[in-house]
Amino acid sequence: MSTIAESTVVEINYILRTDAGEILDQSEPGAPLSYLHGAQNIVPGLENALSGRVVGDRLSVRVSPEEGYGEKVADATRPIPRSAFPARMPLNVGAQLVLADETGRRFPVWIASVGADTVVVDMNHPLAGAHLNFEVTVVSVRAASEEELAHGHPHGPGGHHH
Ligand code: ZN
Repeated sequence: MSTIAESTVVEINYILRTDAGEILDQSEPGAPLSYLHGAQNIVPGLENALSGRVVGDRLSVRVSPEEGYGEKVADATRPIPRSAFPARMPLNVGAQLVLADETGRRFPVWIASVGADTVVVDMNHPLAGAHLNFEVTVVSVRAASEEELAHGHPHGPGGHHH
């Protein structure tokens, strides 16, 4: 199993830059990102670009917002009483939370600001509306285990540890 396809676990080294060249994120040297291909562990535009690639391939991928973290939605911030959160819960600007609406549907939000009485959350991912410029090297490709497929993520170095 050396070609990236559904149900393979892939390790990549990557650098993510803005259009202006600012580095937003990157894998640490010697610690590639591990993900389960086809399980939406990474943004769709990058996952699609990696399909069919093999170990050693290097690629530059420019991902549009639609295939990245979405277009920025207007009027997407909501104030939530500070008292709605556990007192000891750390609330850091930029951190992701998962909220549920009246029907129980869960959706991610990001903390925009934290006041004494109110926490403002934003339904836009911090990178919504941005083009994502990835430079990627494929480090390894292997078949996923049944347990990994059931969990929807890879285990071991670079993956989940339970
Ligand atoms: Zn797991």
